[in-house]
Amino acid sequence: MNIEEALNQMPVMGPNDQAQAAQQPAPVMQKQSNVQIGPRYLEALEKVQELAEINSISIELPITGKKVLISPMTGTEEQKLRTGAVDPETFLTQVNKLLYNHIEYADGSGLPSFEDFLNTLYPHDKTMMIWALLAATYSTLPSMEKVCQKCKEPYEVIMHPDELMHPDSVPQIWQEEKSPEDFSLKSTILKGNLTIEVGIPSEKKRLEIASAFSADQMKNNIQESNNILSFSDNLIYFIKRIVFKDTNGDIILQNPINEIYPFMVNLPPKVKDAIRENVSLEHFDKYLANFYHESRCPHCGNIEKVDIVPEIEFFRKALSI
Ligand SMILES: [Zn+2]
Repeated sequence: MNIEEALNQMPVMGPNDQAQAAQQPAPVMQKQSNVQIGPRYLEALEKVQELAEINSISIELPITGKKVLISPMTGTEEQKLRTGAVDPETFLTQVNKLLYNHIEYADGSGLPSFEDFLNTLYPHDKTMMIWALLAATYSTLPSMEKVCQKCKEPYEVIMHPDELMHPDSVPQIWQEEKSPEDFSLKSTILKGNLTIEVGIPSEKKRLEIASAFSADQMKNNIQESNNILSFSDNLIYFIKRIVFKDTNGDIILQNPINEIYPFMVNLPPKVKDAIRENVSLEHFDKYLANFYHESRCPHCGNIEKVDIVPEIEFFRKALSI
């Protein structure tokens, strides 16, 4: 089947058409504008989109406390996402644009500029948004191989995004005295001379960090730590400020890429260990939605809890990894 025939027969890419799109993503996108689309097709597509809009999901964002509606992705958007997987920064930007295009504030207030949206897009809020985008768009997630802890038999876990939300999944809403921008927690090491301040970072900062590594590194991080950033990069991501007391006056590091990142990466291992022991992000865990799947072993009926990170599922689904 050539590309035109494929497009005529299957103009909208559904979640099950991944293998095909993965084989020839870019040419399909380029050719699409030349394809003649009949009025019946348009009519049907409009109806489908109308119906799909009904599946918008309403969520409350834990950090900003805003109530938002997230509408489902279209087949074309999903396809475009797959072609953008060249580097982490581009891919993240595309995901952010998707969120921006699919978010609506429940109180009817307008969206800020895309730039301002990124400046106030916090990781805990983004997790909720990504889950809602998954749940609105897909009925199933890529299956997962699991070995039952009780009978040791392997089995395939099939998950539906809406099954990942449980009563104890819902995060707390921001309850600090200071706003997320101004809030920070201080930890002091090296006899009180080195102070590390952590706080809630914005997506803008993550893009800066992600710009420093390759797509392969991102895939490695996903496989090893279930996060786009490695464990140490994730800690750097949450560091707002580093203050080192010096006889000539304090040395303050604030720039994530030119100061904090190279400082942290080049620290002697002993100091890195001390930071790992003393600086914790646990305080912010209560604001993070706890998504999980209760998987039932088909061999012995044992039920196990599998923790799920929506953003990683989004990557697995969108990039077929
Ligand atoms: Zn079992």
